[in-house]
Amino acid sequence: MTRPEIEVRGLHKSFGDNEVLRGIDLEIGRGEVVCVIGPSGSGKSTLLRCVNLLEEPTKGQVFVGGAELTDPDVDIDAVRRRIGMVFQQFNLFPHLTVVENLTLPQRRVLRRDKATAAKVAAENLERVGLAEKASAYPASLSGGQQQRVAIARALAMGPAVMLFDEPTSALDPELVGDVLAVMRMLADEGMTMMVVTHEMTFAREVADRVVFMDGGVVVEDGRPEDVIGNPRNERTRHFLSRLL
Ligand code: ADP
Ligand code: MG
Repeated sequence: MTRPEIEVRGLHKSFGDNEVLRGIDLEIGRGEVVCVIGPSGSGKSTLLRCVNLLEEPTKGQVFVGGAELTDPDVDIDAVRRRIGMVFQQFNLFPHLTVVENLTLPQRRVLRRDKATAAKVAAENLERVGLAEKASAYPASLSGGQQQRVAIARALAMGPAVMLFDEPTSALDPELVGDVLAVMRMLADEGMTMMVVTHEMTFAREVADRVVFMDGGVVVEDGRPEDVIGNPRNERTRHFLSRLL
């Protein structure tokens, strides 16, 4: 059996005496798309941040591509290069053009030469439908365009997995669709994805699995038609009823 691309075992995370993650077990196979849903404060962002070690787990293990991130001897930079992350706030460099936002991390982190970085940047801007914005500055773009640039920037690093933390929550409603379309394309291409989102239509249509978190634990984990369509747990039902 091949190992899951992402594996979380007995994960706990506390901030002081606030235990935010209380024992999370999760596996995501290669090419699988998993949407994580749940109320605000349930620990969704903390879970994602533990998966690329932006937060250090208090207890438990995290594996990405079979390598243990939580092993003190792991080459964390090498493992992190397998992981692309997209945040609610796009975090583009405001003083750099769109294409420079894509080439700089490739040059700095992957040590790619100028021509290669430029070629990969152009390919990925094309993928997200923004080739014509290469020379623009982020401030001149809509929020949806900025988020697509952020996705292209992550893709240019050649990640094996992509983590999304509420990528459309900061966008005006009319801009959400274009970003979700790019994510749908990635899912169709077979990218392994972990997506924290409130977009239930996306979760239903694109996710292979939906994970419902509440109070720092996984309450329900299953097919979207089960977790969203026919939740077994009262807490899941209550959460979903408030979204409608
Ligand atoms: P969600 O993404 O589901 O809304 P979070 O993971 O952001 O939840 O937060 C869960 C809990 O962890 C919240 O109570 C939050 O205040 C706390 N928390 C998150 N990050 C930190 C931090 N860096 N320091 C202290 N507390 C934090
Ligand atoms: Mg969050």
